[in-house]
Amino acid sequence: MGEERFFLEGISRRELEALLARIGRGDSPSDGPSSPSRGPEEADSVPGPGGADPVPDTDELARQERAVRLGENGEDVVGGLSYGRLRAVALGCRRCRLAEGRTQVVFSDGNPDARLMVVGEAPGAREDETGLPFVGPAGKLLDLLLASVDLSREETVYICNVLKCRPPGNRDPLPDEIEACTPYLRRQIELVSPEVILGVGKFAGQFLTGRSSALGKLRGEVYSYEGVPLVVTYHPAALLRNSSWTRATWDDFQLVRRILDGG
Ligand code: SF4
Repeated sequence: MGEERFFLEGISRRELEALLARIGRGDSPSDGPSSPSRGPEEADSVPGPGGADPVPDTDELARQERAVRLGENGEDVVGGLSYGRLRAVALGCRRCRLAEGRTQVVFSDGNPDARLMVVGEAPGAREDETGLPFVGPAGKLLDLLLASVDLSREETVYICNVLKCRPPGNRDPLPDEIEACTPYLRRQIELVSPEVILGVGKFAGQFLTGRSSALGKLRGEVYSYEGVPLVVTYHPAALLRNSSWTRATWDDFQLVRRILDGG
């Protein structure tokens, strides 16, 4: 690994807090302002293995998209798709109203053969522009937190959101939008088959746990999502706004590490 990775592998909580404050101020050379809501604002991520996939031929895509949209007899028609097909169908999806205002569908970043799957809420403005999840200051903080437990989106982490398209003005996802979009997430989880899932933010935490509690009450426990250990924690964008959650978030990442280590 390069020099930066070498440094981050030895990061302490105090160092992380200092870095967090620095990121929050936008001190990083390539940073712009922090996102006012779910945070992803900067185009500084590397596309994942799925990022450069060609979209399949138009007729096939239209057929699959129609099948997904109609869902004849309510069956889960996304369920049998391969990773490449799933991504291709999602990139052309118009199942809900969010298709109208999006610039790009934000499908994923990272390694589809990952040990850890991070699930956020929905794309922010810069994610919508770049087509990648968790970019900008919040994305940098997520990368630091991952590095603090020796994980990286380039090698061991897969990242996506509950919603693949940006809600206008970064408003909260609506229930019918979550219902329309989560077949993609379910299939992503099946295909990636991670050892641990980390839900970040309220909507991801509530969807994955099936509970409606506030995030502060959800975090700190190990749940099971379809047999996969599940931990929930604060969204990095929220952490940038409220550094008092740093300790709890740190503890949650340590919990993820212990699960991966079999502890
Ligand atoms: S948010 Fe999900 S369901 Fe709605 S259009 Fe985008 S990909 Fe399709």
